[in-house]
Amino acid sequence: MIDTKARKKALMARLAELDTRLHEIEDELDNPPSKDWEEAAVEREDDEVLEQLGQSGQDEILRIRAALKRIRDGEYGICVRCGDDIAPERLDVLPDTPLCKPARQPSRGDAEPDLRRIAT
Ligand SMILES: [Zn+2]
Repeated sequence: MIDTKARKKALMARLAELDTRLHEIEDELDNPPSKDWEEAAVEREDDEVLEQLGQSGQDEILRIRAALKRIRDGEYGICVRCGDDIAPERLDVLPDTPLCKPARQPSRGDAEPDLRRIAT
């Protein structure tokens, strides 16, 4: 039996942390661009980095919300793909993971050829 109370607490804390960080990023992006041309170019690069950070933060928020929903539904800790239990050690590291194993990366070299043939 998984202690969902502790998991939920950890997920909520992480969610609050991300929320704060994303608001900081938003504030940073809202700063008016510099009049100095060179400075403005540097700021644009910074903005791109910030936007990427913001994007990955938002992705994480979505995963955490989904995990919190699974806690509510009593499905937390169960792999959404195969229905197996997710190892507690894995949840310690990735409390928002919906999968018992790392997701396969079909674009990498060791992708299953059969699946790729079906897809094409
Ligand atoms: Zn699985």
